[in-house]
Amino acid sequence: MQIKSQHRFIRALSVMGAAAIDSVFPRTCRICGQSLTVGERLMCVGCMAELPRTYLHKIDFNTLHQRIAGSHQIDIAAGWFFYYSDSPYARLIREAKYDDRPATAHTLGKLYGAELAADGLKGRFDVLLPVPLHRDKLIKRGYNQSLEIARGIASELECPVGDNLVATRAHKTQTRRSGLERYKNVEGSFAVRHPEELDGLSVAIVDDIITTGSTVLDCINAITSKSAPSSLNILSLGTTHMR
Ligand SMILES: [Zn+2]
Repeated sequence: MQIKSQHRFIRALSVMGAAAIDSVFPRTCRICGQSLTVGERLMCVGCMAELPRTYLHKIDFNTLHQRIAGSHQIDIAAGWFFYYSDSPYARLIREAKYDDRPATAHTLGKLYGAELAADGLKGRFDVLLPVPLHRDKLIKRGYNQSLEIARGIASELECPVGDNLVATRAHKTQTRRSGLERYKNVEGSFAVRHPEELDGLSVAIVDDIITTGSTVLDCINAITSKSAPSSLNILSLGTTHMR
C-alpha cells in the first residue's frame, strides 16, 4: 500500500473509531449541550461561530497594547475572545483552570492556534513561554493551565514551548484587587532561567486571561531585564474589555 493511501486508510479508521466511541459516550457541546459531530471539539460549529472573538492579532496598537504599553515594544498583543465573567465561554476558561481539566486548556489552545495559523502566524514566534505557576500552586492544582494552552497553540503554530520563565514567589489571587494593587502584587514574581537562550528570538508569552495586564507586564520585565529578544508578543485565550 502506498504511504498516502495508508494514511487515508488509517485516517478513515480513526474517524470510524471516533464515531463508534461517540455513539457509546456521546460528546456534547460545552456551551449549548447539543451533541458534537466528528471533528468538533469542545464546542459545536454554531457556538464556535458565536464566540465573541477580539481579532486583536490583526490590529496594530490595539486596546491590549495600550493596556500594557510602557517602556517595551510589543508586536502582537492578542486574546482569542472577550471575557465576560457571566458568559458560558468564560466558564470554559474557569473550568480549564480550576476543575482539573488540563485537556480543556489544551484543546482551547489548539482551537485558538488553528485560527492564528490560518491568519498567517505560523513561523511568527520562535518560542512560546507560558506564564508559570509557583511550585506551591502547581502542586495544589496539579498542572499549569497556561502551559497546556501554550502546548495547544504550539501544536498548531509548529513552534516549541519554553520553560525559561519561572515563578519565583507565590502571589495571592488577583480577584477583587484594584489595578495598582494587582501590579504591586505580581511585581517581581517571575524570573528567567538561561536568559541568553532568548536573545534574538521572537518570544510570545501565553496566559489564560488578561485583565489589567499586570501579570504579563511583570513577565516582560523579567525577560527584558536579562535577555534581548528580537520581538515580544502576548497571546491569551480571554481578555476583558478595557474599562
Ligand atoms: Zn454549541
